[in-house]
Amino acid sequence: MTTKTVGDRIQLNVLNGGADLDIDAELAKFEAEERERLGLTERVHWVDKNPNNFTIDDRKNTTLLIAGLTHAHDMFVQAALSAAGFKVQTLDCPDNEALRFGKEFGNRGQCNPTYFTVGNLVKHLSHLRDEQGMSTEDVVKNYVFMTAGACGPCRFGMYVTEYRKALRDAGFDGFRVLLVSQGGGVHAANGGGLTMTRQDVTWTFRGIMMGDVLNALMYRIRPYEVEPGATDRAIGECREVIATALRNRTSLLRAGWRCRKILSRVKVDRTRVKPKVGIIGEFWAMTTEGDGNYQMQRFLEAEGAEVDIQIVTNWLLYLISEKRWDTERRELLRHQDSGKRGLAGVDVRKQFLKLWVADKFMRGMFQTFAKVMGLMRYPLPNLKELGKISHRYYDMHLRGGESYLEVGKVIHNVVHNKVNMTISVKPFGCMPSSGVSDGVQSLITEMYPQAIFIAIETSGDAAVNAQSRMQMQLFKAKQAAHREFEHALATYGLSEEELRTWVAGHPKVMNALHKSPHEAGCTAADLVHEVARRMRRRARPVPPQPQQQPEAAAAA
Ligand code: SF4
Repeated sequence: MTTKTVGDRIQLNVLNGGADLDIDAELAKFEAEERERLGLTERVHWVDKNPNNFTIDDRKNTTLLIAGLTHAHDMFVQAALSAAGFKVQTLDCPDNEALRFGKEFGNRGQCNPTYFTVGNLVKHLSHLRDEQGMSTEDVVKNYVFMTAGACGPCRFGMYVTEYRKALRDAGFDGFRVLLVSQGGGVHAANGGGLTMTRQDVTWTFRGIMMGDVLNALMYRIRPYEVEPGATDRAIGECREVIATALRNRTSLLRAGWRCRKILSRVKVDRTRVKPKVGIIGEFWAMTTEGDGNYQMQRFLEAEGAEVDIQIVTNWLLYLISEKRWDTERRELLRHQDSGKRGLAGVDVRKQFLKLWVADKFMRGMFQTFAKVMGLMRYPLPNLKELGKISHRYYDMHLRGGESYLEVGKVIHNVVHNKVNMTISVKPFGCMPSSGVSDGVQSLITEMYPQAIFIAIETSGDAAVNAQSRMQMQLFKAKQAAHREFEHALATYGLSEEELRTWVAGHPKVMNALHKSPHEAGCTAADLVHEVARRMRRRARPVPPQPQQQPEAAAAA
């Protein structure tokens, strides 16, 4: 056998009775003969038909279906888009029935959020057809679905194709799925029907941020409500107030102020000791409020915890920081393109300035709404710092899922004692999240043994299994919260009785929107520190909490 380089390929020759046999040529000949025999002489590549025609005129008669975030977000985006001239309807939060539809019509081997979200759309359309008697043609003609997408690198890049496949198999061939790219822009609508003015986009972003603020307030207040159900009622009222303001394009600050008043009427008791549990993980799985994460937020609250959620604004800030990181790296790649310092044709300084402005604008807008609505002491993440502390364990070049954020948040939670316990939600079949939760986080929890951490895989079934694992860790977190509380009382020589009496005499501290400065993982311990300082109590030396091991203190 001999080899010979021909152009850019290596030709393999086998001696055949003294003559060289060109294997490649033989294979090509065989392929041609087989193609001829099978009638495949013309190579036809598969192309996604991608029906996405949606014109400005379609807006009048076509209903835009949206879904995917929390109840408040979906409602506010709907209101903002209605004001922009769209007919909009939100889908229900995906449940196990949606998962069943997703599994029936989706490809095998998808990640869990794909099944839930794709199944949720098929479920809704099937309901219109099979229960409301609408013809398939009318469903396809009168509805479109708008969703977020990106180029990946994980399955997120294939969602839109997955939607089309499932829709086709469920009998809705030709149904339009329009994609809003998270990289910025509406790419998939032919006909310009999704084109929005800058003002429309700004109002939509405002709606998302108002949703963030309202959700953050809800999770702060609800665990401590004195009358069960009072927070949900107040939040329901606030949602209506904000949605009306978005729909009518009236002052959101006024609407926010009204919400502040509504929420401050909820009576709370923050002297109850509850462990604070941070939920992190894959974006959709940690954000959804339904079966997609076993209704985790409600479950934890029912088990006596306070939940610390991740908000959508954090994700938007992450997207900006990702762009900044890329620009910084690219700028140093000299001679990769014709630019002197990389990035030919791009004014790098202008690019950085634009990203800086976008970051400041987002933070400014969020904090304005937060202040007006009463969400005090709610710092937005410092992405640079999170990147720095996690880069050693998770390279910032890696993309997909939550990237380095998941690692950075766990370290941050432990080092700064932000919560008593951290749950990382990873959907079944999720490529990036599994690598982080099962791989990198094992190292992190080794390094910070005081961390109470659990990774929960959400598969739609086995809810009891996941919940009982959470309960086990929660037991430890409850003990940690009680230790913190008692340690704080002992530090200032305060009794629980004295604490309660002082709080009862100070209506501002009792207010549902009050937030003590951060000192400890749980809210009740923060309250003790604040009250003791205001009572001018002096801290006295007490033995460290058993949970706070010397190596933990050293790591901090
Ligand atoms: S991050 Fe994971 S769950 Fe989310 S889309 Fe990508 S692969 Fe799926």
